[in-house]
Amino acid sequence: MKHTHCPNCRHEDIEDFFVIPQAPVHSLVTIKDYEEAIAIPKKEISMAFCNHCGFIFNSSFDTSLDYYTQGYEDQQGFSPTFVKFITGVSQRFIDRYDVKGKEVIEIGCGKGDFINLISELGDNKGIGIDPAWVPGRSAENPRVRFIKEFYSEKHGELKADCIVCRHTLEHIHDTYGFMETIRKSISDNEKVVIFFEIPSIVRILKIQAFWDIFYEHSTYMSPGSLGRLFRDTGFEVLDMYLEYDDQYLFIEAKPVEGKSDKIHPLEESVEELKELTKYFVEQIKIQLDSWREKLEGFKAENKKVVIWGGGSKSVGFLTQFHDVGVIKHVVDINPHMSGNYIPGVGIQYVVPEFLAEYKPDVVIVMNSVYMDEIGKMLNGMGVDPLMLGL
Ligand SMILES: [Zn+2]
Repeated sequence: MKHTHCPNCRHEDIEDFFVIPQAPVHSLVTIKDYEEAIAIPKKEISMAFCNHCGFIFNSSFDTSLDYYTQGYEDQQGFSPTFVKFITGVSQRFIDRYDVKGKEVIEIGCGKGDFINLISELGDNKGIGIDPAWVPGRSAENPRVRFIKEFYSEKHGELKADCIVCRHTLEHIHDTYGFMETIRKSISDNEKVVIFFEIPSIVRILKIQAFWDIFYEHSTYMSPGSLGRLFRDTGFEVLDMYLEYDDQYLFIEAKPVEGKSDKIHPLEESVEELKELTKYFVEQIKIQLDSWREKLEGFKAENKKVVIWGGGSKSVGFLTQFHDVGVIKHVVDINPHMSGNYIPGVGIQYVVPEFLAEYKPDVVIVMNSVYMDEIGKMLNGMGVDPLMLGL
């Protein structure tokens, strides 16, 4: 399946700039069986650039696959570093827009951690919508109810003062249609505040973060392309900012009549982003070659190498280097990951405590933000490996 139009602006002027030939189509489905894990299909990722709106997306993305209803594990709340970050972000948002005693809808709420938190912190009423929601995975909260479905037009009847959507837009192929549906649901209620969080493609391009490119993400937004999408679908950008070592891009917006002309200072032009894709193409081979050399060196020295940080980043990383055969284990702090097999790769997730006995020589940390937290846990177990952070 090859897309011929930009899903963000519908133009035809698109071109591929980077291809990953064989990527597992799933990252986070929960598979308990090795054979089943390695049988997950692999497909091409074609990173494409739209010359009209600067949107970056997988032009080979298969929209017919079911990604989320067969068990999906993406909870991050087991890390104290993450909990501190998300609590700070939520509190700032609540204070800024006086989100207190209000009705909040979260589209793509996962297991419900964020909608529970924002309802708790601001004494709000919440509705979480997500096909991958699992009953019983968060404490009963009388303020919050969940709808285990994909977000669609029919949810437009739900009225809210605030619509939040974290780490969901990057999974949506038809970004324009998605934003249009949200805009329609708001109708003429211009007091509604919108709050989105997504990974930023700018960092991926600048440091060639190939581990952040994987099949489940069809959409890769920058401040510029996100701002243009919001304006084109009837919103005004109130603010934008980057957090978490510039990995996550936040946007706060409100619905307007007509088209807003407010451009945020963080937004880059289509030309600037295109230059960054060229830089990425120049540098990525060097980056991949140097990692391969490093991993082959570890293998030649019989080093025990593990990855810390399951989920999509480890899938993105192993898609490039599983063939080296030096990484035998992937650690994750989320206890619900333990025992699952990585789709398409077949390595089984282990709990951190496993390393006390295994005594790895090298730990590759999939997100440098967690280096301190992980370093302390390793020291606590009496192991002192070489730590390499992405
Ligand atoms: Zn476009």
